[in-house]
Amino acid sequence: MPHLVTRAEKRAYPFAMTTSAGTTRIEYRTCHLCEATCGLELHLDGRAITLVRGDRDDVFSHGYLCPKGTAVKQLESDPDRIRRPLVRRGDAFHEVSWDEAFDEIDAGLTPIRDQYGPDALAIYLGNPGAHNLAGLVYNRALLQAARTKNVYSASTVDQMPKQVSAGLMFGGGLTIPVPDVDRTDYLLMLGANPYASNGSLMTAPDLPGRLHALRARGGKLVVVDPRRTKTAEEADEHLPIRPATDALFLFALVHVLFEDDLVDLGDVAAHVNGVDDVRRLATAFAPEVVAPACGIEAAIIRRIAHELAAAPTAAVYGRIGTCTQEFGTLASWLVDVVNVCTGNLDRPGGAMFTRAATSTAGTFSNEGRGVTFGRRTSRVRGLPEYFGELPVVCLAEEIETPGDGQVRALVTIAGNPAVSTPNSDQLRRALASLDFMVSIDIYVNETTRHANVILPPEPELARGHYDLALYNLAIRNVANYSPPLVELEPGEVPEWRSMLRLAGVIGGLGAHADVDALDDVVVSGLVSKVVGRRGSNVEGRDADELTKALATRRGPERVLDLMLRTGPYGDGFGADPEGLSLAVLEANPHGIDLGPLQPRIPEVLRTPSGMIELAPEACVGDVERLRSVLERPLARDGGPLVLVGRRDLRSNNSWMHNLQVLVKGKARCTVHVHPDDAARLGFGNGVDVRVRSSSGEIVLPAEVTDAVMPGVVSIPHGWGHDVEGTQMATASRHAGANSNVLARTDLFDPLSGNAVFSGIPVEIAPV
Ligand code: SF4
Repeated sequence: MPHLVTRAEKRAYPFAMTTSAGTTRIEYRTCHLCEATCGLELHLDGRAITLVRGDRDDVFSHGYLCPKGTAVKQLESDPDRIRRPLVRRGDAFHEVSWDEAFDEIDAGLTPIRDQYGPDALAIYLGNPGAHNLAGLVYNRALLQAARTKNVYSASTVDQMPKQVSAGLMFGGGLTIPVPDVDRTDYLLMLGANPYASNGSLMTAPDLPGRLHALRARGGKLVVVDPRRTKTAEEADEHLPIRPATDALFLFALVHVLFEDDLVDLGDVAAHVNGVDDVRRLATAFAPEVVAPACGIEAAIIRRIAHELAAAPTAAVYGRIGTCTQEFGTLASWLVDVVNVCTGNLDRPGGAMFTRAATSTAGTFSNEGRGVTFGRRTSRVRGLPEYFGELPVVCLAEEIETPGDGQVRALVTIAGNPAVSTPNSDQLRRALASLDFMVSIDIYVNETTRHANVILPPEPELARGHYDLALYNLAIRNVANYSPPLVELEPGEVPEWRSMLRLAGVIGGLGAHADVDALDDVVVSGLVSKVVGRRGSNVEGRDADELTKALATRRGPERVLDLMLRTGPYGDGFGADPEGLSLAVLEANPHGIDLGPLQPRIPEVLRTPSGMIELAPEACVGDVERLRSVLERPLARDGGPLVLVGRRDLRSNNSWMHNLQVLVKGKARCTVHVHPDDAARLGFGNGVDVRVRSSSGEIVLPAEVTDAVMPGVVSIPHGWGHDVEGTQMATASRHAGANSNVLARTDLFDPLSGNAVFSGIPVEIAPV
């Protein structure tokens, strides 16, 4: 059983003190602004945050905090935030009551669904929803009510390739191994910059500190990236690589592992299918063959392969750069092929699977159905769905193309696809043409300005928080619940209630459905499922008895309590009195450390074979396409410049640019150009340049720097706030340019439908 809070800790929480300004109390809360899940120590005076510090007692973050974390204070008090429902009349938004807002939604959405059917409504789920307990619990109810195939999310913007490769290899879209950073001896990192992003699909507070510790204990960090990022600067070795050639590089590593007889599957050997297929495929990718395309010398590739094989423990990790490219799934797959072939999958110090406190599937046995894609296809282009959603590269055309099944209405939840998805200009036009649109959001931004109704969530501090999704990818097993810290004020409504009420409208129950009754339906469905699940710690129990035991809670907390109690550490509703429940987490405000990651193969596997599929058919079938890259001309040989993104520590996609504390100082939305390219193209530092692709063009200042490799230019994403009709004053003053205008909707990874942002051919010239 994990360490529970001591009496002294209980006494110290909550802690209150009186200051000249009033009564300040100290509360603890997990930061919801990125995937790192840092513990915050919040000093509150009434509802106002007076100070934000890192929670030194947090079991995972130990006091670490990045600049965004302190900005939670400004985010909560931002005067531009929407506090009451808004209805658009003409070009202006007006505050209305909640009943008026839902009447408006009912009047707008219901006739469209009645006349054109469920697929006329599209739903877009944005990235902040991954940090939102209410969203993660109730999105499903909304989607079930909608019964539309037009479901889109930020997943096909930047992470679907990893979900697909994990699904094909291990049987589940979130069965993603994470590097055991705290114990590894060697970390090979591709297309990731955790010094700026704090990690992604790898939940770990203070990754800079953890990477520093890795090196301090004698380990080695190697970064493969077209840019010399902050992470690359701090690494033992930086290997600049041509964008979108990561799969070639990784295949060459596999080639060397086989050629030099270095393959050793270790403890998972008895659970791997397809080794010979991978060996055969890798023969075409000798380091000497891929080196010109990758820009990494063959001898270096051979050395890295030998280092990986020789390290006591090692892990390969790839992230944004490996996902947002035309070979995203192949690169994501090959990351784990190398982990398997070097014997590092599922062993301490290697790449391991988290056992989250709310895990269900994958916890008790290794029987599974695997993954199936393409159960539905998009209307216009026939692109397949992945994990229930269509690629976002289809959204604009599904709105703009007339005919049966045309999307005429849209619901967005915490999303800004007008900025964050490809060919933004096209999507903006499409959004303007919708018959009706509803958004749940905190801002009138580039997307929600098109909405007919905007519903604001309650303030963050008025809601409970638990990282239901992110703890599935944590580098330690941890659990930490943050209760609401302030009361709702009149006129504020919890987001989960808005979502269920919206589900009621979409499901045909009208604008005034009984939200509590809908919530009961959600919970009773979940309880029935878990008592019927073989191997569950409540298998065969009376569903009514469990439902009654949960009755003191409502909303997301009730569902969370159920998930914790029936999870792998749960109390099983009395079966294990020492086990986890929400009450136990409430008594532990700094979280509970459930220990380091443990080997989980074979029980984590959900493939039909019950094995690791090292050579999934879909990946094997795409290898020939990868070989064609070898023929492409490079910039130095007359080929085009190619675009990559970049991340900044003070930015998180598109949604934190309205906070002065995060955007002040030198403008960060610039295009990085290598000095050789700038000289060849005839411009210097600070000059405004026009960057053009086949889908659009933007103008922004050039920053000439050798931090990018020759032939590559880099622009951060999420900017471009100079749009009429938004209500984000600070963001408008620091508008920047939207790099996604340059991304094309016809360019995507065919195995996952993921949009391509990395490696887009562009032209650049002084204005
Ligand atoms: S690293 Fe992420 S979770 Fe931690 S303080 Fe910064 S924004 Fe919050």
